[in-house]
Amino acid sequence: MLSNMGYGSRKEVKKVLKSGSVRINEKVIKDGSYKVDPDQSDVTVHGELVEYKPYVYLMLNKPQGVISATEDNHHKTVIDLLDESYLLYDPFPVGRLDKDTEGMLLLTNDGKFSHSLMSPKKHVKKTYYAKVKGTVTEEDIGLFKKGVTLDDGYVTKPADLTIITAGEQSEVELTITEGKFHQVKRMFEAVDKKVTFLKRISIGGLKLDPSLEKGMVRELTEEDKLALF
Ligand code: URA
Repeated sequence: MLSNMGYGSRKEVKKVLKSGSVRINEKVIKDGSYKVDPDQSDVTVHGELVEYKPYVYLMLNKPQGVISATEDNHHKTVIDLLDESYLLYDPFPVGRLDKDTEGMLLLTNDGKFSHSLMSPKKHVKKTYYAKVKGTVTEEDIGLFKKGVTLDDGYVTKPADLTIITAGEQSEVELTITEGKFHQVKRMFEAVDKKVTFLKRISIGGLKLDPSLEKGMVRELTEEDKLALF
């Protein structure tokens, strides 16, 4: 728990424990395997109360080639990219990005938070930058606004398409409020085009942190969390 709260690596925390500086409900505890119930215990380190956080909220800049899952027998998962100190929280990805999609993926162990971000009722916007084979046109903007029919007959909710460059290889930004399987790729297929590169650049009002390199993670601030909804 202490390692998790930023009091150093497990090895470092063991040393602090050994030195007798950790008290649980006033009693000195030296054993690292002591199971602490954070709701029932006051933990102090050098006399200072440890404020226990039950949840973790992370932003990952997902690289291509990793799976948005907690476990996979064959492929690296987004959990493999996390620092060990986050693993005790048992975080999971909020929704999914395809293996070949990059960009902003949130991870948390807060089921309610995840649920409200994913709930179709909340209409949380997700914006993607895409490279598309084929010339994206004004007509496509209109079709996406009205809704296009996917290969399984589903008609998409209104989406905002912005053309950055149009040509044989177009660059666009697309904002959708739902998250059907392979939705962006299938929306372009519905207008006879093919997504060749896809990156999620924002969720709600929160943008992918430009200082986060691919594969890097940072905790969300309170402000970030508010910007999401
Ligand atoms: N739409 C897709 O097609 N793929 C993603 O990874 C996300 C949205």
